[in-house]
Amino acid sequence: PEHPPGPCAPAHSADRAGAADTARADLLRRLAIRTAERARAGLLRRARTVERAEGPWQEVGGRRLLGFCSNDYLGLAGHPQLIAAFKRVADDEGVGSTAAHLVCGHRREHAALEEALAEWTGRERALLFSSGYQANLGVMQALLARGDLCVQDKLNHASLLDGAQLAGVTLRRYPHADAAAAARQLAGEPGAGALLATDGVFSMDGDRAPLRALAALCRREGAMLMVDDAHGLGVLGPDGAGSVAEAGLGVGEVPVLMATLGKALGCHGAFVAGPAGLIEGLTQFARGFVYTTALPPALAAAALAAVRVARAEAWRRDKLDALIARLRRGAAELGLPLLASDTPIQPLLLGEADAALAAARALEERGLLVGAIRPPTVPAGGARLRITLSAAHEEAHVDRLLDALARLPRAPAAAGAPV
Ligand code: PMP
Repeated sequence: PEHPPGPCAPAHSADRAGAADTARADLLRRLAIRTAERARAGLLRRARTVERAEGPWQEVGGRRLLGFCSNDYLGLAGHPQLIAAFKRVADDEGVGSTAAHLVCGHRREHAALEEALAEWTGRERALLFSSGYQANLGVMQALLARGDLCVQDKLNHASLLDGAQLAGVTLRRYPHADAAAAARQLAGEPGAGALLATDGVFSMDGDRAPLRALAALCRREGAMLMVDDAHGLGVLGPDGAGSVAEAGLGVGEVPVLMATLGKALGCHGAFVAGPAGLIEGLTQFARGFVYTTALPPALAAAALAAVRVARAEAWRRDKLDALIARLRRGAAELGLPLLASDTPIQPLLLGEADAALAAARALEERGLLVGAIRPPTVPAGGARLRITLSAAHEEAHVDRLLDALARLPRAPAAAGAPV
């Protein structure tokens, strides 16, 4: 509200208000300049509104498109058992958890889910977070202190990087999946606590970290290994227990295991699993756990149902593997340069951002929805179509995708090179 300056108002209050207005305008102007720069580079991002989603189908702008862009790798987001669990708890207990875990938001659905996740991943305990982004920030900030060393793969998810920066540690990033380079970065750091953090499956490339080599070097150098298995849990390993289980690494080798509930499990949220002492420490000090509202209990119930289905319905992983093999076989016949990956993430490297956008648009005209991933999410010159497969797809869907990919105009630079 505007008040006339009273007798006690400082003579320069109008000047101060003017300066504050200018400072605020400067912040907005700076943001606008950055946005304009991004627009000039053709890299503006826009969320599109999906009017309806059902299995792999997405309705956008009134058109029903076949999607190859979700992380619902097992096709569980629409599974009747998840929906029933969600509805039952929402009917009984309402929607929101109404508080942080440590206040009164921790319900029996959360407790049951934490137990199931610990058991599935072969860890002593698990702790729920409201998102994977928060979980990674929380672990780094609780576990590390200024002066510690954090060594990370260059292609790690942004949240691992942001977490290390938040913790104020010395951060070193090694060339992608290069365990020997990681070893050199860890070596000769006497006295400092050291954490090596890696994605289990890389979100934009689909390949896997050399987990056994990384575990061996962490043992040798006395460093702790943290694996973010957001894209491995449910998909890889015995029982779908993830890439760490597939590599046969126990809690001694990977004391910090993080994974999300929003991908193969078709829900939302995340957890960290590990020794009881780690979980107790995170409960005390991970600010992204302490100072945030617990997940809705209905969602925890749905995620528990998802864990059960993911373990019981192994056919989903078999079907996914068959679809992946079909896509790769077809792409090889067409000379399409898919990156080397045996996971549901099957990127087609296109180089420049414009090329990726044009390819995504051309596919959309043919009724297919595939994400174009551009810098800064991927390095400059690394723009790509991020094709993802799901057990909700059928063989005919993969064939339709291959047919549309075959019709994309090839880059003039080289025949048989990126489209
Ligand atoms: N880690 C990785 C490897 C991811 O791909 C993602 C999701 N993009 C996250 C963490 C963040 O998880 P969430 O979406 O639950 O915040």
